Amino acid sequence: MTQKQSKSDPGKLVIISGPSGVGKSTVVKKLLQQCDLPLELSVSATTRPRREEDTDGVNYHFLTDEEFQQRVSSGDFLEYAEVFGHGHWYGTLKDQVSTGLNSGKWIVLEIDVEGAARVLKLHPSAVTIFIHPGSLKELRRRLEGRGTETPESLARRLEVAGQELAATSIYQNIVTNDTVEQTVELICQLLMKSRNQPSGDNTECTTN
Ligand code: ADP
Ligand code: 5GP
Repeated sequence: MTQKQSKSDPGKLVIISGPSGVGKSTVVKKLLQQCDLPLELSVSATTRPRREEDTDGVNYHFLTDEEFQQRVSSGDFLEYAEVFGHGHWYGTLKDQVSTGLNSGKWIVLEIDVEGAARVLKLHPSAVTIFIHPGSLKELRRRLEGRGTETPESLARRLEVAGQELAATSIYQNIVTNDTVEQTVELICQLLMKSRNQPSGDNTECTTN
């Protein structure tokens, strides 16, 4: 993963979506460590409860409902959505994105399909990647294995996953996350190629 980016190159927006549990956070963490591009994760704000393994300001900015609404009223979000429809809100902070892009960073947004569609209207040249689990059965296995969901939230996440898997046509790239290493390698290659392509046709990639 070489081909260093020149410091004078402009920043880029990279949207990574995929159903909850597909492995986005796992893949993005390694991508940031291993891919030789000036990638930076945009830390979203959320009102969902903090998990034991979450660090405030690293995984998310954890806000109360009131704080979130206040930031909505102040126009602080590039996009926001109630992802699973149970009163838990998630949003991309404008200043995270603009500060990074202005300093030549490649800002990675790990957001849902609805948020991605909104951001694409504002930034049509964003690179878009949808991470696919291969099957809903495999997705369930990963969500169960992560051990973070109640039976109710697991069922809801799988229901939303079905909707997301049917709405991938807005993405330029669809990558099946069979193994983390291969997925990271493939996404890094896609990003390297995108340096010379303002926009691309839809392509399907698997790590097989
Ligand atoms: P997301 O951020 O999309 O919700 P996570 O990164 O939290 O997903 O991954 C969900 C679970 O799946 C974690 O337990 C993670 O270790 C596991 N996982 C991620 N990628 C793979 C993979 N390629 N194969 C098997 N398990 C995976
Ligand atoms: P989790 O609760 O598992 O951390 O995240 C659930 C889902 O919320 C993720 O799979 C991701 O698609 C979505 N998400 C996270 N941050 C944002 C955001 O800022 N905006 C939108 N629209 N979706 C987000």
